Amino acid sequence: MSYNQSLGDLLQNRNLSRRQFIKVCCALTGMLGLSPSMLPEVIARAETRPLVPVIWLHGQACTGCSAAFLNAGEPSAAEAILNIMRLEYHGLFSAASGVELEHHREKVMREFRGNYLLIAEGAVPAGDQGYFCSVGGVPYGEILKAAAKQAAAVLAIGSCAVWGGIQAARPNPTQAAATQQVITNKPVVKIPGCPPIPEVIAGVVLHYSLFGQLPALDSQGRPTRFFGKTVHAGCSRKSFFEAGQFAEYYGDKGAKAGWCLYKLGCRGPSTFNSCAALGWWQGLSNPIQAGSPCIGCSEADFWDDDPISGFDVQG
Ligand code: SF4
Repeated sequence: MSYNQSLGDLLQNRNLSRRQFIKVCCALTGMLGLSPSMLPEVIARAETRPLVPVIWLHGQACTGCSAAFLNAGEPSAAEAILNIMRLEYHGLFSAASGVELEHHREKVMREFRGNYLLIAEGAVPAGDQGYFCSVGGVPYGEILKAAAKQAAAVLAIGSCAVWGGIQAARPNPTQAAATQQVITNKPVVKIPGCPPIPEVIAGVVLHYSLFGQLPALDSQGRPTRFFGKTVHAGCSRKSFFEAGQFAEYYGDKGAKAGWCLYKLGCRGPSTFNSCAALGWWQGLSNPIQAGSPCIGCSEADFWDDDPISGFDVQG
């Protein structure tokens, strides 16, 4: 990929017609929560502004965030959006590995000093001098600090990177910490979720690529556009909540009829995320739609505060 390639260049190289390019820009404008009147500006910026390079690091994680990102599905506007990230380094996706790949990361850090985005997936272990998680013999925390120092901004993606996740759950044997506990001198955008919604990650990266700045963040550092409302606010079962119609047990009459899952421990009312609005796999479904209560995976400490495990599922 050319170092000055814009989104327009990239899509043109993939033989997308002008009409399809405009469709992608329309989808992008909507996804970023911009006014339709901004469409001409989005098109102009998409045609001219070079995509921002991205380095994607892995700490203590199951790699589920990366796996979710890969589930782009069939060609569509959403697929195009998910694949337009200029990913320069990723421990799993990159074709190269070992020393070659680490050298490439260092080269990107040098050549794009202050101008690349750093994505951090997974928690950061402080125990055993950080060696509970290391790459090439270097503790992840050290790699993270060095890469963050020269980045324009850091995106902590997934609940492990944002809150510490299951690694930080009691008794936290590796002394796992969240990204922002380690990176304190750089903006850290928090995109929690287990896993986080791929379109949200791509949306934040593209917003920075197009406008040269991060999207609006809430008081916890989460993008307001995607974390400004509770799951409950957009839930397809909300009318049943308001009518007092609740499933009491898995598989009962209410569960089969699609009633509210609040009595099964649903945390939608206190969980901020876009699962209901964006859905998963190009909006195909989301956990509540599929019959599972929201477990609040994007909220802090949800592993230590599990609402589901105490429920009787047999009736
Ligand atoms: S299923 Fe959960 S999110 Fe949906 S209406 Fe009921 S309590 Fe709210």
